[in-house]
Amino acid sequence: MQCDFCGAKTAVMKKTTKSFGRGGTLVVVENIPTVHCSQCHESYITADTARELDRIRKNRRTVGKAKRVLVASFKKSAA
Ligand SMILES: [Zn+2]
Repeated sequence: MQCDFCGAKTAVMKKTTKSFGRGGTLVVVENIPTVHCSQCHESYITADTARELDRIRKNRRTVGKAKRVLVASFKKSAA
């Protein structure tokens, strides 16, 4: 498919998992269709996907399934 950033036809759709929020508002969303371009190395989601993510985040209590997840904090400083 065509990349929205550089126009090359090297973009592919991949499913990714991302977490949003933190603590009590943390929600992990699986299978997010994300566009990856091997030409410009840009990765982005479409406007439709962004809208759906907003909907999921607002309705996380009803659309989400409670799962046991291990959440680790990255403690080591970058220096
Ligand atoms: Zn591109």
